[in-house]
Amino acid sequence: MIDIHSHILPGIDDGAQTLQDAVDMAEEAVREGITHLFATPHHRNGRYENEKDTTIKHVALLNKELKSREIPLIILPGQEIRLYKELIEDLDRGVLLPLHHELKYLLIEFPSSNVPNYAAEILYELSLRNYQPIIVHPERNSELLEKPDLLHNFISEGALAQVTANSVIGNFGRKIMNFSHDLIKSKMAHFIASDAHNTTSRGFHLTRAYETIQKMYGIDTRYYLQENAHLVMKGESILIEQPHHIRKKKFLGIF
Ligand code: FE
Repeated sequence: MIDIHSHILPGIDDGAQTLQDAVDMAEEAVREGITHLFATPHHRNGRYENEKDTTIKHVALLNKELKSREIPLIILPGQEIRLYKELIEDLDRGVLLPLHHELKYLLIEFPSSNVPNYAAEILYELSLRNYQPIIVHPERNSELLEKPDLLHNFISEGALAQVTANSVIGNFGRKIMNFSHDLIKSKMAHFIASDAHNTTSRGFHLTRAYETIQKMYGIDTRYYLQENAHLVMKGESILIEQPHHIRKKKFLGIF
């Protein structure tokens, strides 16, 4: 299994703090059945900056460590990039890191409370430069939760979306769980990823999320989501289905 979003690199963001934390997370990932794990530290989220070179260096160190401990997990370099005004300038400066060098998938995070008014423009600029933005955990953004059509617009313009495993199984509460399922049902979720930060409060839970999805929506939906992570790793394009609009449930379901 491939996981495209995690915070396993030690000491550079709010994920693993020590090498031992990272090793514990790697062992947990292996138990989950994960073979390849993208390390995607926060970049420009207001607290952490992890440019491309730093991330690549840390990934090499961790891979060496895992190899010496005979832990069968490959770490791949990536970045979780907060949407910020100078994003395109930094992209042109070469400090941002896509998940693949050919088909350039880029993990993009919105602030948790809102969607910045320049979001559409930046997503458009990314597409002009042949980057493929993946909006991470849209289900945890309160503005998208209220106005899912905003996400529908971004997806119609070519953006992809990654829903977090912990959201699917209810670890962020009922509202976020329900929205995650709405996104899956409406073809607005293209990936499931762990966004794991540790082995306790924010662990992997990828297998449980996929099992839940299989139980509720069938094995085809599970394979679609699981396979898309493989395609990202291989730098290939994914199959995009026409997204539906999410109809907000009216009070008491009368209307
Ligand atoms: Fe993250």
